[in-house]
Amino acid sequence: MAQENLPLEATLVLIKPDGLSKSLTGNILTRLSEAKMEIAAAKCLRVSRELAEKHYRDLKAKPFYEELIQYILGKYHSRKKVLALVCVGKGVIEKVRQLAGATNPEEADSVSIRGQYGRITTKGVYENVIHASSNAKEAEREIKLWFEPDEIIFDLYPTTQSEVKVKKRMWAPTQVAISQNQK
Ligand code: UDP
Ligand code: MG
Repeated sequence: MAQENLPLEATLVLIKPDGLSKSLTGNILTRLSEAKMEIAAAKCLRVSRELAEKHYRDLKAKPFYEELIQYILGKYHSRKKVLALVCVGKGVIEKVRQLAGATNPEEADSVSIRGQYGRITTKGVYENVIHASSNAKEAEREIKLWFEPDEIIFDLYPTTQSEVKVKKRMWAPTQVAISQNQK
């Protein structure tokens, strides 16, 4: 199908802790931008157990589930963080899945991201560098899980207004050296 006839879609991309440990961010972003898609949101975050469990809720019964949670939490890598992106473009869901390659890095096309940089650990988990939503329904659920509406530059899905009272940290009015404490 010609590119212009493909539906406009959004997908969630995660550069997993192994991707960050191996300094693959630049390489992956280059590939995404060459595939003509627009980054509509991006953030670097430490994944909470709650978020990890919600993200992988459909895999709860799998034998590798607990290892998978530990992996996305960054327990096996020097980088306990994930880079989360929302990519928007025509046919973007399938395009990113193609760029990512098959789930099993040993079966992934050798020029795909997972084929080039993924590995299977001794515990049997596929450390495959990148997550990409597999269909529109999953993309919507995942984007809404990882991002709030105001973190995305487009109004992808309908929103509602609600008034909430939240306690949040603000910058203190001092100038000090930066710290990198692991919260
Ligand atoms: N996974 C694994 N072993 C398997 C299947 C999946 O370790 O046999 C891990 C792998 O990291 C994968 C993630 O679980 O990316 C989510 O699995 P899914 O079947 O959704 O594959 P994906 O959509 O990521 O290709
Ligand atoms: Mg999946």
